[in-house]
Amino acid sequence: MRGLILVLTRRCERRCGFCPQEFIDSDMDAAVVDGAIAQLLPKLPRPRRLKLFGGEPLLRPDLVARAIDAARRVDRDAVVELSTRERGLGALTGKVRGAAGVEIFAGSPRFEARLFPRAVLNVLLAPGEGAVETAARVLRARAAGFSRWNLLPAYLTRWRRDERDALRRRFSGVRLVLEKLARRGDFVEVVNLKRTSSVPLFNDGWVVDADGAVYSSNLALTVAARAHKRRLYLGRVGGGLETASPDGAREVLRRSFPEDLLADTFAVDGILGGFCRELREAGLGEAPADRQARPC
Ligand code: SF4
Repeated sequence: MRGLILVLTRRCERRCGFCPQEFIDSDMDAAVVDGAIAQLLPKLPRPRRLKLFGGEPLLRPDLVARAIDAARRVDRDAVVELSTRERGLGALTGKVRGAAGVEIFAGSPRFEARLFPRAVLNVLLAPGEGAVETAARVLRARAAGFSRWNLLPAYLTRWRRDERDALRRRFSGVRLVLEKLARRGDFVEVVNLKRTSSVPLFNDGWVVDADGAVYSSNLALTVAARAHKRRLYLGRVGGGLETASPDGAREVLRRSFPEDLLADTFAVDGILGGFCRELREAGLGEAPADRQARPC
């Protein structure tokens, strides 16, 4: 398994138009948080990664803090990712702010990145924007203190051919920004270079839903996959778990979304993949230990 993902709550008040998730008024019990981490985190290869997910996990800062404590008890070097669109820091406890190894994946550039040097900005690339605007956006993100970016083309969305061509130019513009920054000795990390998944957008791993059910992909949390998520079901926290089928997520994706929407999704994912290959060849987008990205 590649990681452990805890769905601390199925609630979110934002309702972003592009979000495929199914929202339910359901939060994880503290006992499930503890049980899932104790049972599953030790089984992951190092470095162990725990992702705190939702909904909006910061609706339950008590569970966020609890999960960090539980992960530290199992492995003090485990990396804890917190995926949030929360703008203010009010809901973040001091524990989250001070904890080593906690990586915030922020959905908004207004997030106070300077307080979290390991914060990652999710840079959403929707159709319709030009290369200059995208380059300006990532430059503003750098100026706001983000030295780690996760580039996310809008998936499960229609992309016309001209919009896909424009996406290639937008990635070229991002590459020019990375080159410019690198010439100044400022190495921004593109976290996409280190991540793989069997399907675009969704994560493989042990995904523990708020009710304690364990799935092999967070695709199981979407409205569209509701009728097919049984194919991703592995068992429950505290019990034995089945082995995930290697093709399970791809099969559920195929059954859950229209063919033309998936064709566009795989096309833009391929464009992202090409961009990542070019970065690797050019030695860009990674922050080696001796050239760590520095706070702005
Ligand atoms: S879970 Fe995230 S993407 Fe979905 S509606 Fe909430 S903030 Fe938006």
